[in-house]
Amino acid sequence: MIVDLSSYVCPNPSCEFFQRSNEGNLIVRTIFGRHEDILLLHCKACGVNFSENRDTIFFQLKTPRDKVVKVLTCLQQGEGVRATSRITGLHRDTVSHIFHLAKSENFPEVPSLLVDAS
Ligand SMILES: [Zn+2]
Repeated sequence: MIVDLSSYVCPNPSCEFFQRSNEGNLIVRTIFGRHEDILLLHCKACGVNFSENRDTIFFQLKTPRDKVVKVLTCLQQGEGVRATSRITGLHRDTVSHIFHLAKSENFPEVPSLLVDAS
């Protein structure tokens, strides 16, 4: 399996490659998660292992990544929570949870993309 690692960076502040992409320091250690779709990455320079989802909205969610993206896309397009629930097949509470998580201050890049659907 060939994985494009160009969008990932080492999260270790004491690593010489901290937040630098395309340095060749990252490898895929394994793939894990309930849906076997999350990469565990390893920095060869400092030895740190980290989830590809670290510091992203996907990190604490059990919902598959593609469904979360679909929810965010629907909400971004102005669909409400109920409509998004119908479109994605996810429970209203799950959609609502993703929406509120996306609006939280933990992910400052996401809220500007969203129409207020609450
Ligand atoms: Zn590192």
